[in-house]
Amino acid sequence: MDHDYDLVTIGAGSGGIAASRRAAALGARVAIVERGRVGGTCVIRGCVPKKLMVYAAAYGDALREAAGYGWRIDGTPGFEMARWADAKASETARLETVYRQMLEGSGVALVEGTARIEGAHTVRVGDERVLKARHILVATGSAPVRDSIPGIEHCATSDDLLDLRELPRQAAVIGAGYIAVEFAGALARLGVEVCMYYRDRLPLRGFDDDLRVRAAAALQAGGVELHPGAAPRKIQQAGERLLLVAADGRTRDFGFVLNATGRRPNTAGLGLETLGVVPEPSGAIAVDAQLRSSAPNVHAIGDVTHRKNLTPVAIAEGRALADSLFGPAPREVDLSRVASAVFTLPPIGTVGPSETEALAAGHRLKVYEADFRPMRTAFIGSTERTYMKLLVCAETDRVLGVHMLGTDAPEIVQSLAVALTAGATKAHFDATVAVHPTAAEELVLLRTPARVVEPKAAVVAPPVG
Ligand code: NDP
Repeated sequence: MDHDYDLVTIGAGSGGIAASRRAAALGARVAIVERGRVGGTCVIRGCVPKKLMVYAAAYGDALREAAGYGWRIDGTPGFEMARWADAKASETARLETVYRQMLEGSGVALVEGTARIEGAHTVRVGDERVLKARHILVATGSAPVRDSIPGIEHCATSDDLLDLRELPRQAAVIGAGYIAVEFAGALARLGVEVCMYYRDRLPLRGFDDDLRVRAAAALQAGGVELHPGAAPRKIQQAGERLLLVAADGRTRDFGFVLNATGRRPNTAGLGLETLGVVPEPSGAIAVDAQLRSSAPNVHAIGDVTHRKNLTPVAIAEGRALADSLFGPAPREVDLSRVASAVFTLPPIGTVGPSETEALAAGHRLKVYEADFRPMRTAFIGSTERTYMKLLVCAETDRVLGVHMLGTDAPEIVQSLAVALTAGATKAHFDATVAVHPTAAEELVLLRTPARVVEPKAAVVAPPVG
């Protein structure tokens, strides 16, 4: 059969772009179809603008702290959301241009429009254009869920929040995952009164419990009013405002409510059913380790799959898939030790299993901890704390996990992830001379375990509510 392209990628987000460029570099003829802005969720309405908002919030902290370092700041500093919004719009536009140029420079054809799969090798774009493809890659990402709680569809999503030109005076955040805690923390630092409603007893389900406890404390210290075990039963529109109705029927109204109750894969309307590919109940496309769907030449990567939903994973998957299809040998991405960050203030960096997960996997653990007031903020009398935790297998001495909440945690943990990938032991940490004065040096100065825990001690706390 004659194909126009060796690969047609649907979705020009981080994963789709990475796969397409790598495939083109390997000599494949590649087209990428995009119905919105090139760059996808991460660049246009996710990680990048979110981090720019967190930076804006951190500047507020820096201004407040500066006086303690001897600075005299005349007048009252104030944050203007509209100015941030303009600067953010310019930056995402710049990045979009860069991505368009990168696609062009790599020889990938950008086809703008909505794609629909019409057959094993056929992708229709809009009404006019039909692309014949040897392989199809679905990289359409995800979108906020809109049916988690009755009435949640009335609430704003992170997309809406990032497009505000004026901050609300008061806001409710529903959920306690990545998006909820990052935006709750940033908004509070920018002067918004924030109430966070969630159903578990602690935020960030799935993270190490010692981090979760400290994340809750940091959110509270940052001014967020926490409501654990209190996800609303329903949300009702009341004129311009939204009523959050609690399980006991009590209500509280807000002018702005953020729906941070998760995201759902973008599979609706793609035409997958024409190939017999049935998305999971979550909407995700199930793929095997080589990112193949149940249809032979249809592949999927990133947030549209049931695997780990993080931008760098989508990029790694995209490159691995291109190598497998057009390179010398098939390749898989190892997801067993993916580091991640949560950009609370201060942020979280984490790699490897939580203590609960490591115990459940049968490890006898030596747990090393440090919990201290960091130099920069202790100097000005702040009560902010940094927390670090090393999980070490008592039998092999391998460092299984590093969990940290504190300034620069994502940067520190990214570097340590290399050591863990290389199989570092606690003896390697002990043999490493510290860089002084840093917070990170504590991680190579931990000598005595805070506790040794037997595998049987693993207890998974049941969720509240
Ligand atoms: P998460 O899955 O992280 O969190 C969803 C939150 O919504 C949880 O607190 C969950 O509660 C709650 N929730 C879900 N359903 C309901 C319900 N019916 N009623 C009440 N609460 C509910 O999703 P996010 O939207 O925060 O993030 C989406 C994805 O984006 C994540 O998978 C993440 O990988 C990615 N992301 C990554 C970031 C990073 O790397 N820094 C930043 C932002 C997003 P419970 O825990 O009780 O289930």
